[in-house]
Amino acid sequence: MTLDSLYQKIQSQQRLTPEEGLFVLKNAELLDLGGLANEIRFRKNPEPRVTFVIDTNPNYTNICNIDCIFCAFYRHPGEKGEYTYTVDQMLENFKRAAAQGVTTILLQGGVNPAIPFEYYIEMVQRTVKELPAVTPHFYSTSEIIGMSQVSGFTIPQVLQKLWNTGQRSIPGGGAEILSDRVKKKISHLKGTSADWLNVMREAHKIGFKSTATMMYGHLETDEDIVEHLESIRQLQDEHHGFTAFVPWSFKPGNTPLEKIIPHYATPTRYLQMLAFSRIYLDNFAHIQASWFS
Ligand code: SF4
Repeated sequence: MTLDSLYQKIQSQQRLTPEEGLFVLKNAELLDLGGLANEIRFRKNPEPRVTFVIDTNPNYTNICNIDCIFCAFYRHPGEKGEYTYTVDQMLENFKRAAAQGVTTILLQGGVNPAIPFEYYIEMVQRTVKELPAVTPHFYSTSEIIGMSQVSGFTIPQVLQKLWNTGQRSIPGGGAEILSDRVKKKISHLKGTSADWLNVMREAHKIGFKSTATMMYGHLETDEDIVEHLESIRQLQDEHHGFTAFVPWSFKPGNTPLEKIIPHYATPTRYLQMLAFSRIYLDNFAHIQASWFS
């Protein structure tokens, strides 16, 4: 295997195997990766145009029982600073944002077992009804699994009820790194890689669109990154439900994980992730930048 032969393979639009991808990730120069990624970007999206949405990222609760060690957000019930907002309070928040031009609301919270399933449904129902120009991009896979646990409905049933209420789009958060070796260390209560993929698969089957995310820059290796990208590439082949891939680096402040990571991710690593994912994810139309990447 040589870089030159793999570059030719990429330029002739052939798919890299995981072994080839790993070789490229470990050995390619950033400028070579960037050049190849740029060719693909213009092949897939010929217009020299970058699109964006004006969105807002509110949270309805910070109470969570999953205890991810990379998370600086969650609180346990009764802990100082915990909150859970009512649907009315969230709708007020959404309306203020919409008045300022927001067209998408990315809503996520902790996994709070005290919240009944009806709350989530009402949130969608009222958003669709009271803010018809806004796209509800609500609830990560962990929250959807949590809804299944509090309601007794299966994951497909939960998703179908959200769909019937008018939701069409799901955020790709909660994937972190789809390698169970890493997940066991950073989020052992959150479920396996297969759990995340399963919620996404069921959602895509119904017709939902979602993003796929990746949080790198902690305990993962290059092998884990390729495993992650391979998992979402395979799922994309099934239903083409992912609209975009969104990588971001771990933000260490105020987290237990901060104390055990070998080093912080650099801006160069971010550029490498953007370029490599563009090359490896040959069935994704878009790579999405994130304001906190
Ligand atoms: S599930 Fe979400 S809110 Fe809960 S600890 Fe993990 S990252 Fe934080």
